[in-house]
Amino acid sequence: MCLWSHVMGLFCRMSALEPPKILILGGTAEAAAIAQAIVSRWGEDVQVTTSLAGRTLAPPAFPGAVRVGGFGGVNAMADYLRDERIAVVIDATHPFAAQISENAQAACVSASVPRLLFDRPPWEQGDEDRWHMVESATQAATALPQFGQRAFLTIGRGELAAFATCRDTWFLVRMVDMPADSLPLAAYEVIAARGPFTAEAEQSLMERHKIDVLVCKASGGDMTRAKLLAARAIGCPVLMISRPELSDGPYARSVDAVVQWLSEVLT
Ligand code: NAP
Repeated sequence: MCLWSHVMGLFCRMSALEPPKILILGGTAEAAAIAQAIVSRWGEDVQVTTSLAGRTLAPPAFPGAVRVGGFGGVNAMADYLRDERIAVVIDATHPFAAQISENAQAACVSASVPRLLFDRPPWEQGDEDRWHMVESATQAATALPQFGQRAFLTIGRGELAAFATCRDTWFLVRMVDMPADSLPLAAYEVIAARGPFTAEAEQSLMERHKIDVLVCKASGGDMTRAKLLAARAIGCPVLMISRPELSDGPYARSVDAVVQWLSEVLT
């Protein structure tokens, strides 16, 4: 047998013995919960890596390995999946992180890796809520003056510039990290905080700042739901930016459903 065949044979046997590698695309509380659930269920029988974009300064701790930073597009992600011999991808990114989900779908097809999309359950509007759905941050900025003059803005950093046109609105802007530079808004105050929040604390924050309109994304999930309960309690209108279209499935809507899907794929 030639040396090359021997090395390849050894490599294939080592690969066969290696525990399956699971890549979780993260950036959400659910990604951390999924990593924890997988480690609790399978322990060292699998290798879990969570991938973060690297947008926040101090991400919470994750069980398993963590890699940080973009892959460099679809082809580079497909190369990563092949090079790292990833067995399965769980896309647990934020519902508004549409680009990475689209890339992951294409990369997984290219590298023939099964992929599951975690679809965070959306929030449901109650009878006492005053939600106004808009398609984008730009639409929210256009509509904003009809609803109030003191806005609580909780859409993250990416699309704040859309609100630069709201010259007569004062903004309370909440972000995970304090921004290094000034924001493109006429008048504002920034607070840095990471959920979960309580409805009582959210109500007191909104009352203290005399908030008369809340602007947020239809993110869903428990971490940031409390602001909607507070808005309901004080009769505050909500400009809610609709989710981008979901990329193709399969989907899971709970951590348990992810574990169930994995147990079928890994056997
Ligand atoms: P995005 O527009 O969908 O993605 C932009 C690029 O960032 C991707 O093409 C990819 O770069 C990189 N990227 C995103 N998520 C990544 C991950 N988990 N691991 C490695 N690279 C990743 O994403 P975004 O809206 O800027 O959000 C960035 C991250 O923050 C996401 O992971 C998301 O889960 C989290 N997050 C987003 C929001 C939101 O409202 N958008 C809210 C909370 C948390 P390459 O093309 O170079 O691979």
